[in-house]
Amino acid sequence: MTAIKEPSFRESVDLMFNRAAALMDLPPGLEEKIRVCNATYTVRFGVRLRGQIHTFTGYRSVHSEHMEPVKGGIRYAMAVNQDEVEALAALMTYKCALVEAPFGGSKGGLRIDPRKYEEHELEQITRRFAYELAKRDLINPSQNVPAPDMGTGEREMAWMADQYARMNTTDINARACVTGKPLNAGGISGRVEATGRGIQYALREFFRNPEDVKKAGMSGSLDGKRVIVQGLGNVGYHAAKFLSEEDGSLVVGIIERDGAIYNPEGIDVEAVHQWIVKHGGVNGYPDATHTAEGTAVLEEECDILIPAALEGVINLSNAERIKAPLIIEAANGPVTAGADEVLRKKGTVIIPDMYANAGGVTVSYFEWVKNLSHIRFGRMQRRQEEARHELIVKELERLDRYLGDAWSMSPDFKAKYLKGADELELVRSGLDDTMRIAYQAMSEVWHDRDDVDDLRTAAYIVSIDRVAKSYRAKGL
Ligand code: NAD
Repeated sequence: MTAIKEPSFRESVDLMFNRAAALMDLPPGLEEKIRVCNATYTVRFGVRLRGQIHTFTGYRSVHSEHMEPVKGGIRYAMAVNQDEVEALAALMTYKCALVEAPFGGSKGGLRIDPRKYEEHELEQITRRFAYELAKRDLINPSQNVPAPDMGTGEREMAWMADQYARMNTTDINARACVTGKPLNAGGISGRVEATGRGIQYALREFFRNPEDVKKAGMSGSLDGKRVIVQGLGNVGYHAAKFLSEEDGSLVVGIIERDGAIYNPEGIDVEAVHQWIVKHGGVNGYPDATHTAEGTAVLEEECDILIPAALEGVINLSNAERIKAPLIIEAANGPVTAGADEVLRKKGTVIIPDMYANAGGVTVSYFEWVKNLSHIRFGRMQRRQEEARHELIVKELERLDRYLGDAWSMSPDFKAKYLKGADELELVRSGLDDTMRIAYQAMSEVWHDRDDVDDLRTAAYIVSIDRVAKSYRAKGL
C-alpha cells in the first residue's frame, strides 16, 4: 500500500488555524503574527552515563508571548522534533486563551526513550536539561513555566523545580517555575488526575446539551455509552477510570503500545492499569480479547472514541473507517487536518484537543497561583465555612425536634453539609467551572454561525479572537 502524503503536525495545526481565521475579520498581518511560532531553542548537551558521554537533543518552543509567562509541557519521547514541539506550542496558545488561563503558549521536548534509563540517570539528564533551559529563562516563574507531558510526570517536575531553585537561591517564587510537581514539593491536589478529569467534565458538559448530542446522532447521557481509549497513560487512564466508575460508561476497548484489548461487556480499567504496571503492557490481560494490531481497534464500533496517546493516529488512511460518532481528543493532535475533513463530512462530532485536554493547564494555573501566593487553597476559609454551616445545622436540628415525626433531616445531610471544601474539592470545582464556561463559549459560535459547522473551528475562532484582542491591547 502506498503511504498517503499528509501535512506535518505543525502544518496540520496551521491549516486548522487558517480555516478559522478565514472566517474572521482580523486586521491585515495580525493573522500571520498570531499563527507563527515566535522562537524555538534547540539544545544539545552531554551527560556522562555508564562511563561514556551521551549527547541529548532538546527543544523549547515559544509560540506566543501575548501573555507571560508562557506555558506548556515537556515531553520525553524518541519522536520529539522541532515541528512537533512548535505544533504543540501553538496549541498551547489557543488552549490557554480558550480556558482563560493567563499564559502564552510554549512546549518542550527531549529526544529520549525514558524507559531505557535508570532513575538516577534520568535525574542527571533532567537536571542538565533544566539547567540549559533555566540559564536562558526558558524555565522561569514569570517567563516560562513547563509542566508534565508524555513521558514525564511529577518526578521530573520536582527535579526541574529543584534545579531552578539551586540556580536562583534568592527567588522567593522559585517553586512557581514549573507545575505538575508532587504535593510535598509545592504541587497541588488534583493535578495528576486533572487532564483526565477535564475529559470527564468536558463530556458531561457535552451531554448536558441534548441538541449537541443529537448532532452526533446520539441521545441520553454518558450512562451506558461504549468507550474506546487509546493510551492508558496519565490522561487516558484517568479519563477511562472516571467515566466508567462515576458516569456508568462502558470501556469496551483499550489500545496500548503492545496491541489492544476488547470486550463488548466492558473492561475493568483499574485492573488493566494494575496489569500494565506489573507486565508492562496489555498483552495477556485475561478478561478481554487481545489484538496485536492495536490501531485497528480505533475502527471498532463504539459511542465515544478517546485517542489519548499520540498525534496523527486518525489520518487519511483510516478516517473513513472510524465508526465512533463522537471523538474527544484527549491527546494533542490525534486527528490530522485531512482526517478532520473526512470525519466532518461524515458527521462525526469531534471535541477538539485545545478544549478537551485543557484540564491539565487549568489545574497547572491553579498550582502556579498557589505557589505565588504561598498558601494552600481553602486554608483561610475552610473552618469558618464549617462554623457557619454548623449554625444552620443546629437550627435544623431544633426544627427536627419540634416537628417530631412530621419531618427529619436526611441521614447524611449533616455530615456532608458540615464539611468545608478542601483543596482537592476546590480544584475540581474550579476545573469543572472552567470546562463548562469554555464549552459554552465554543458551542455558542458552533450554534450561532451558519459558516461554522464544527467545534474545532468554533474553538479556534474564540481563541484567535481573544489572542487578537490581547495583541491589540498591547498596541500591535
Ligand atoms: P503518558 O506518557 O502518561 O501516556 C501515554 C500512553 O500512551 C502510555 O500509556 C503509552 O504506553 C501509550 N502509547 C504510546 N505509544 C502508543 C501507541 N503507539 N499506541 C497506543 N498507545 C501508546 O502521556 P500523557 O501525559 O497521558 O499524554 C498523552 C497525550 O495527552 C499526549 O498527546 C499529551 O500531549 C496529551 N496531554 C497531556 C497532558 C498531561 O497533563 N499529562 C495535558 C494535555 C495533553
